[in-house]
Amino acid sequence: MDTHDINVKCFQHCEKGLNILCFRVPVVCPLCGVEVACTPCRIPPYIISTPLVNAKEYPCSVIIKPTVGTFLQNYSNNSDLHVGVTDSGGCTYDFNEEGINVGTVWDQCVVMRIINEDYNLQSQWDYVLRQITQSQTWSRSRYNENSHNCFDFVLTFLHSCDLQRTIPAIQSKKTFCEELVIKHTHKAAVYISIYRKVQKNGFYIQNVN
Ligand SMILES: [Zn+2]
Repeated sequence: MDTHDINVKCFQHCEKGLNILCFRVPVVCPLCGVEVACTPCRIPPYIISTPLVNAKEYPCSVIIKPTVGTFLQNYSNNSDLHVGVTDSGGCTYDFNEEGINVGTVWDQCVVMRIINEDYNLQSQWDYVLRQITQSQTWSRSRYNENSHNCFDFVLTFLHSCDLQRTIPAIQSKKTFCEELVIKHTHKAAVYISIYRKVQKNGFYIQNVN
């Protein structure tokens, strides 16, 4: 089962400020025990937006996922992360011990939009990406887990696009991780925590007072 196809829904039934989070709206409200379909909801069910998306829908972005497994199943705060980029068509590019990978499916990743839908910027982005991925610098034999890895690939690419002034955090691996990557994975971690609670108990009551 692809768990990522399951959306987390949210509604308020009888208690103001108590969100009921679930995959499927329960027949009976877990708070008051009354049938949900027969009574009005304070807030009718809606799908909460997920920070975990399919990279192919996000052109010209930096993409992040756990090196092993998926965010929903495997992620924890000390998981190793893998980063890559998408071109203007949403095709993925990343660097690992296999060398450059093109067109891998990243269907559950966190994205950082880097440039907007400006035709010239996107053409430049694709051009630089093509140049870089053809360079021997990113051949399989040059890969090093610490000093020549997926982060080096993404940062070299962003530097080659001349984005240091627009995005100062890309100046080093350290600032890139601390100021950008962690901020984005933190949002994902909040969602993952809710998701897992719902998965475990069938629902999760969130106090928003
Ligand atoms: Zn209720």
